[in-house]
Amino acid sequence: MSNVAGKPCILCCAITGSLPRKSDNPAVPISVNEQIESSHAAFEAGASIIHAHVRNSDESPSSNPDKFAALKEGLEKHCPGVIVQFSTGGRSGADQERGGMLPLRPDMASLSVGSNNFPARVYENPPDLVAWLAGEMKKFEITPEVEAFDLSHILQAQAMHAKGALFGKLYVQFVMGVANAMPVDKEVFDFYVHIMQSRAPNAEWCAAGIGAAQIMVNEWAIAAGGHTRAGLEDNVRLDKTTLAPSNAALITRAAQLCAKYDRPVASPAEARAILGLRPA
Ligand SMILES: [Zn+2]
Repeated sequence: MSNVAGKPCILCCAITGSLPRKSDNPAVPISVNEQIESSHAAFEAGASIIHAHVRNSDESPSSNPDKFAALKEGLEKHCPGVIVQFSTGGRSGADQERGGMLPLRPDMASLSVGSNNFPARVYENPPDLVAWLAGEMKKFEITPEVEAFDLSHILQAQAMHAKGALFGKLYVQFVMGVANAMPVDKEVFDFYVHIMQSRAPNAEWCAAGIGAAQIMVNEWAIAAGGHTRAGLEDNVRLDKTTLAPSNAALITRAAQLCAKYDRPVASPAEARAILGLRPA
C-alpha cells in the first residue's frame, strides 16, 4: 500500500475555460445556465472545486463581473458547499480587467505569478499586475490557486507566500502540457512534488494535464498524494476517438483513480478544511 492511502483527494472541475467551443465538443458549457447544470453534475460526481471562466453568447471569452456574479449565485444554490474558484487568467481580459470579478469574493481565484509562452503567444504576467491581483485577493480574502506553468512559478509562489503576499494557505497547481510551456514530463513532475514537500511542507498542491495527458497527470497526482483537476477546459476527449460526454464524465474518471489508490474523494467540507477556506 502506498503512504497516500486514506488521504482525501480534492477534485477540481475546470468546466469551460476560454478556448474550447461547442464545435470542439457540444458538451462545453457556455451560458451561465449551462455552466451551472454542468457543474452540478460534476459536483455530484465528486468535484468540490469549480474552476470557472465566463463566455459571451458568441462563445468568446468574457471578463464581465455580472456573468461571474450570476454563476456564483447559481453554484452556491445548486451545489451546496462547493468551492467557487474564478479564473484571473490572461485569455479572458487585459490587465486589471482580469481581476474585475474579485470584489464578488469567490472562495478562490487562480493566480499566475510569472510569464511563459502559450501555443500562439506570450502569456504575460508582469510583476506589477501579479502584485495587484495578489493584493486584491488579500483585500477580499480569496485564497489563490497559483498556476505553475514552469518551475520558476512554484518558487515564486513560495517566496510570495513566505513574505505574506498571498492570502491563506499556499496552494500550487502544476500545469503540464500547454504547447510551448512545460510538457507533461514525469521526472519534472516528481521534482515539482519534491520542491513543494521540501520547501513548503505545510502547503497543498494539485496538478492538471492538458489534452490527452489529462488522465495521466490525474493518476500521477493521485498516486503522489496531491489533488487534481479534470474538465473540458483542459481536455474535451475521453480517448483519441471519443468526445467526453460531460464534465462529470471526466471527474468520474478521476474519482475512479482515487479509488484505485485508496484515496477518498474529498467532500466540499473536507476540501475547505484541507485548504483552510472559510466554511460555506
Ligand atoms: Zn482556467
